[in-house]
Amino acid sequence: MASAVPSIDLNNGVQIPQLGFGVYQVPPEKTADAVATALEVGYRHIDTAEMYGNEKGVGEAVARSGIDRGEIFVTSKLNNGYHRRDDALRAFDTTLADLGFDYLDLFLIHWPLPGIDVDYVETWKALEEVYASGRVKAIGVSNFQAHHLRRLFEETEIKPAVNQIEVHPFLAQDELRAFNAEHEIVTEAWSPIAQGKVLDDPAIVAIAERLGRTPAQIVLRWHIERGDVVFPKSSSRERMAENFALFDFELETGDLATLTGLDRGERTGPDPDTFNYIPG
Ligand code: NAD
Repeated sequence: MASAVPSIDLNNGVQIPQLGFGVYQVPPEKTADAVATALEVGYRHIDTAEMYGNEKGVGEAVARSGIDRGEIFVTSKLNNGYHRRDDALRAFDTTLADLGFDYLDLFLIHWPLPGIDVDYVETWKALEEVYASGRVKAIGVSNFQAHHLRRLFEETEIKPAVNQIEVHPFLAQDELRAFNAEHEIVTEAWSPIAQGKVLDDPAIVAIAERLGRTPAQIVLRWHIERGDVVFPKSSSRERMAENFALFDFELETGDLATLTGLDRGERTGPDPDTFNYIPG
């Protein structure tokens, strides 16, 4: 079994477990069982979103687990359709109600949506209001580029605690990660194994064979050693356990650079500069 997951300090002093469990594409009716299994495996950080439609299942599993609420870090994200101030405030209330919590650990703007008629600066100010109310321990953004973040720095009060962006060996994102770090924003790496696409890469397979680990563990360990937060998704207990066992080995000299060298700027998800999707 893996040793304890380290925590990272956010810029307001709140601590986030560096490894969590993501529930994107987990069907709502299966979410409570999947999260219950993840909690049994040892995960204490769950990443959900209003858009995933499965916050109720997350809350149900947390309640059923008997684990203290304070020991589980839960993130959710504002749905793209609710960027106006009043909508965002209401959406946060619904998130809390669906989770059955009296506070949330981290709430994010899911996408900047630069092409819609609501400016994400207005949306961020709404999250600042929620933060001031004490019902969320930290607020952050997702899929923000440096130029989106610069506008927040210039026009709002609170710096985001995290920027959750797509990162994996085919999209290493070193420039944006460095920008985040320079501004005391923790990078969270979504789709950390590129939904499985990086696992057949010969360089990754070779490192896995040398260290007696699986390709997924090698890639997840690369994220951990780079200092990012990750929350791989899986529906099987075996893979949840495999993805959790990252703290009893290290990559060897040169391995970090080998994985970073696979960067080819390849996204698995949308480009934040052009993505303006609003669910119907
Ligand atoms: P991921 O990179 O975690 O890959 C998940 C897929 O890889 C699973 O469907 C599974 O089939 C496979 N897999 C998992 N573990 C494996 C293993 N050990 N060996 C082989 N295959 C394995 O992709 P993801 O789910 O897209 O990303 C993880 C989390 O990131 C999501 O659940 C969500 O919480 C978050 N996310 C956020 C955004 C955003 O816009 N903020 C977008 C996508 C994902």
